[in-house]
Amino acid sequence: MTRTSSELKPKIVLGIAAHPDDLDVGAAGTIAKFVEEGAEVHYLILTDGSKGSDDPSMTSAQLIELRHNEQREALQVLGGKDVTFLDHPDGELEITLDLKKEIVKAIRTVRPDVVITMDPTFIYDANSGIINHPDHRAAGQATLDAVFPLARDRLTFPDLEASGFEPHKTATLLLINFSRSNYTVDISDTFEKKFKAMQAHLSQFGELTEPGWLKEFAASQGSSAGYELGEGFMRIDVR
Ligand SMILES: [Zn+2]
Repeated sequence: MTRTSSELKPKIVLGIAAHPDDLDVGAAGTIAKFVEEGAEVHYLILTDGSKGSDDPSMTSAQLIELRHNEQREALQVLGGKDVTFLDHPDGELEITLDLKKEIVKAIRTVRPDVVITMDPTFIYDANSGIINHPDHRAAGQATLDAVFPLARDRLTFPDLEASGFEPHKTATLLLINFSRSNYTVDISDTFEKKFKAMQAHLSQFGELTEPGWLKEFAASQGSSAGYELGEGFMRIDVR
């Protein structure tokens, strides 16, 4: 039995990602499943999503508002509790101590037992021609550092502790990584919710009338674990 074989039943989940839609692409089926099993789910979105449009008539200000609303709607479909936007400029996310501190504050507020974020070691996949967005990698790295050791350590950011943000140890990290995984969640029963959540991101995917590519992706992720539909993660149970 490996350290990662037991099924997760989190009570509080915090998803942390760069853009509105990132968590839904990588983990919406898992999030819906956690909610159905009684978890309280929060999202922290680090950038404002202001660059994600090819539409020549779209302004950044319009896009920010649109994507905030799309993310709120998607999380509502999944049954999540709330979403917080830090609104750093899209495409320019840097791994700074200030960003880590903002994430630590969120972790110490929400006090999750599971944090879901992007795997910062996923830089590219030559087979599928994917280069992982630098904001995704920055979000993942800053979150890993915030989970361990910064949120845990009492002497880190003493001003946060003085303001009531007590240290917190997160038990498990689920890292979204589209090229490898050591843990797969069965989303056969929650795929419909994932599809509906993805439909909310109209500015990113257009009108998704058929689950097509989304379902193929879930089928390929689930197959390694014997599930009809799945989502794969690198899971770390933090010592
Ligand atoms: Zn993204």
